[in-house]
Amino acid sequence: MRFPNVFAIFAIEMVEFLEKIERLKGLLGGENKRVAIVTHTNPDGDAIGSSLAWAKIVGSLGHEVSVLVPNRYPSFLDWMSGIESVIIAKESPELAVEKINSADLIFVMDLNKIDRLDAMSEHLLASSAPRVLIDHHLMPPDDYDLQFSYPQDCSTAYVTYKIIEAVAGVDAISVEMAENLYAGIMTDTGNFAFSYITPELMRAVAGLLERGLEIPKVYNAVYNSYSASRVKLLGYSLGRKMEILHNGKAAYISLTEKEMRRHNFQLGDSEGFVNYPLTIAGMKMSALFIETRKFIRVSLRSRGDEVDVNIFARRYFGGGGHKNAAGGKSFLSIDETIEYFKKSVAEFFAEIGL
Ligand code: 5GP
Ligand code: MN
Repeated sequence: MRFPNVFAIFAIEMVEFLEKIERLKGLLGGENKRVAIVTHTNPDGDAIGSSLAWAKIVGSLGHEVSVLVPNRYPSFLDWMSGIESVIIAKESPELAVEKINSADLIFVMDLNKIDRLDAMSEHLLASSAPRVLIDHHLMPPDDYDLQFSYPQDCSTAYVTYKIIEAVAGVDAISVEMAENLYAGIMTDTGNFAFSYITPELMRAVAGLLERGLEIPKVYNAVYNSYSASRVKLLGYSLGRKMEILHNGKAAYISLTEKEMRRHNFQLGDSEGFVNYPLTIAGMKMSALFIETRKFIRVSLRSRGDEVDVNIFARRYFGGGGHKNAAGGKSFLSIDETIEYFKKSVAEFFAEIGL
């Protein structure tokens, strides 16, 4: 009997996934292992949510777990269960290095390039502990002993849900873990507005609801908890700082350190700003430039298939990410960065015929 190819692909993926789960179970066997869970610089809801949920499962298997981040997470994640024990490498460098150096097993969450771990990268690469990747970014490198890399999945939190389901069963998910995972899924999908929304994802969310998740609680904690100065900075950014290019097909917002100081800027305040220009009809790509002491942080977003910002970020800003959401850095001044961006957009859009 001949099966349609789609089933064959699915079956192969399933077999591969289950093989990996067996290897993961092997790594998680034994007791009292020291396990480090690390995630990327400027950790977002998905990085933190997936790491905290995974830490709870690994801890429940009898291991000593630490969650490590290069720098501080935004305050809209303060409510998350387990966040108080996260080790911030920039603030406690010795402790972070000690946790990595002494780890028997390392999980890397929500990133593909290890250099997104900043100062932790070299210690991680020097460690001989098995290294496991749990992620949904495109083009992961090969330097992992075991790799759960699913670029077709909306978030690392969703990948983590599937791994937990396979390793420990859905019943192992506590309300707190359900909130951690849902926060990751919700923030990385823009509250279920972006690509990669599938029936399977919604069934996973149903699974989280069955474990006691309250969706409005998580939504309000993340999206309705801004400071007045953040909302005013958004108004300023859109009203005064948004520039539209290329016949309304591209836009950018830039914020200098001075402007942010004037608006009492707190870490995470500019999160989401880059999405607003995409609410304009016909807009294909949006960029946000945030000035920091060392470089300009570049955030890029697009909608649909025409503009692949992962490629754009890699080519022009030494970064990467996903087709519709990517980022990178610029070491030029803010004005030079904007000029460079305009030239890059002209070149890129000409190439793709926009
Ligand atoms: P954001 O704009 O929210 O900072 O980042 C969006 C996505 O772009 C992230 O999920 C991440 O995949 C990717 N990204 C952001 N900055 C960088 C970077 O400097 N390097 C790489 N490789 N990816 C980045
Ligand atoms: Mn993510």
